[in-house]
Amino acid sequence: MNSHDNPSLRVMSLHALAYCQRLFYLEEVEEIRVADDRVYAGRELHSSLEADEEGEQTQLEMADPALGLVGKVDAIRRRDGSLLPYEHKRGRCQKEGKTATAWPSDRLQVIAYAALIQSVMGQPVAEGRIRYHADNTTVRVPFDDAARQDLADAIATARRLRESTERPPVTENERLCVHCSLAPVCLPEEVRQAEHPEREPLRLFPPDRDGTSLHVIKPGAHVGRSGESLVVHSPDDTPDVKRPVRELEALLLHGPAQISTQALNLCSEHDVAVHWLTTSGRHIASLTSTAGQVQRRLRQYRALADEATCLRLAKVLASAKIESQHRYLLRTSRGDEHARETMLPHLVPLRSALASIKDAPDRDSLRGFEGSAAVGYFQGLAQLIGPTVPEPLHYSTRSRRPPLDRFNAVLSFGYGLLHTAVMRAILAAGLEPSLGFFHTPRSAAYPLVLDLMELFRVPLWDMVLMGSLNRNQWDPDPDFVATKGKVWLSDAGRRKAIGLFEARLDETWKHPVVGYSLSYSRTLELEARLLEKEWSGEPGLFARLRLR
Ligand code: SF4
Repeated sequence: MNSHDNPSLRVMSLHALAYCQRLFYLEEVEEIRVADDRVYAGRELHSSLEADEEGEQTQLEMADPALGLVGKVDAIRRRDGSLLPYEHKRGRCQKEGKTATAWPSDRLQVIAYAALIQSVMGQPVAEGRIRYHADNTTVRVPFDDAARQDLADAIATARRLRESTERPPVTENERLCVHCSLAPVCLPEEVRQAEHPEREPLRLFPPDRDGTSLHVIKPGAHVGRSGESLVVHSPDDTPDVKRPVRELEALLLHGPAQISTQALNLCSEHDVAVHWLTTSGRHIASLTSTAGQVQRRLRQYRALADEATCLRLAKVLASAKIESQHRYLLRTSRGDEHARETMLPHLVPLRSALASIKDAPDRDSLRGFEGSAAVGYFQGLAQLIGPTVPEPLHYSTRSRRPPLDRFNAVLSFGYGLLHTAVMRAILAAGLEPSLGFFHTPRSAAYPLVLDLMELFRVPLWDMVLMGSLNRNQWDPDPDFVATKGKVWLSDAGRRKAIGLFEARLDETWKHPVVGYSLSYSRTLELEARLLEKEWSGEPGLFARLRLR
């Protein structure tokens, strides 16, 4: 076997392995890495130490193909005539009674460095040392036969896991998860809850998004780079907009906006997704960093090539969508006898579809049920438009490309924004947007994005749109541009829709299944990650959210 078949292991990967085998797998096999606050703080500690300890060999990169290891040791010191690796840790040491000891992952890491130093520098190494800065303690780790055996065992386990296509189960030691940087990807608490539904999961998933979205909607605007910021220049006298890239999660270019290569580089370096949309909000393309998602995509291909899996997921999704539509129509007509009477006929096709889904023999019949439910739903939606809303904003029938009236123009624009937000969540979860389980492939639309969107059309746009219409936030003239065969949003209308949508993404709600509060933006990502678990050995979690 040559080094291409079995590349060297990073010493840091052994640190992860000793912490949790699933963490090792997620980082090394699925190539998911998250630089959270603890990682950043660790880097800052290392850079300050580099400055403090001049003259010492610090941050030394070493590799030994025979050992199969590569790594960067914090420092190499000479004590009593022999070399030793010296590692710095921000936290506290482990205590066994009154004795200070190294944590197992730190111990394995420093043993691996000891082996590398001995092999690369050709000098005997008797021990390694770990400095725990939080309690000002240095722990000595002997590099003896037991240590060598532990290192050999760890390397063998790591190689076995690297060959495996099975993601290891979540660790039984729940306390490890609380401090794990990959908990938002691994979702250990949700997996445990699926096995034990009575359990109340801890919220390890972040409640809010990491950054905001920057929308560029002015025709002819140009996005450039200034240091670590993006700068939007407008063609008119509007002042430039400058935003530090670390505050951003996505950049959305609507219509004919330009972006420099330098700005694209900056976005790629900081994992800021760039999306291009038409002026009517239709998604055109996305640029995201997608390196190393082979394992997750292979699993997706395998699962979604199976008709039974697709049908099972499609049924779950269609039920969730239609139930949300039904609850929304029912809820808004609650307490008003007349409104309820008027609404009831429109609910009939939704109820009938819900009753039929379970026995649908295939996806085609499921699409038929969903289509007839949609007709009832939109007719019901039309009933919810209040009498104070100007007539040109009312709904008559669904028209898409192009929208033929104002209602459809703003409905489609919002769905375009939702499409982009869902695309972002799908790519963040490492999924292939072109391969879905319900929608069939067609040009310019990503089936998996359309699938996941179904869960969110009602809460993320339909409800927002209906609320804003009934609050008279829309003006038929300045917010729209209407020609004989098409209606679209003006600049002012697009700003309004974007403002409403972004505010909705930031709103928090209590997820009815996992039981904790999180923003809608994070809910999108959570559902994309739960979907991925449907074919990764942890099914039953996806699409269980419902409108209350
Ligand atoms: S969250 Fe827990 S189970 Fe998941 S990788 Fe981290 S430590 Fe392991």
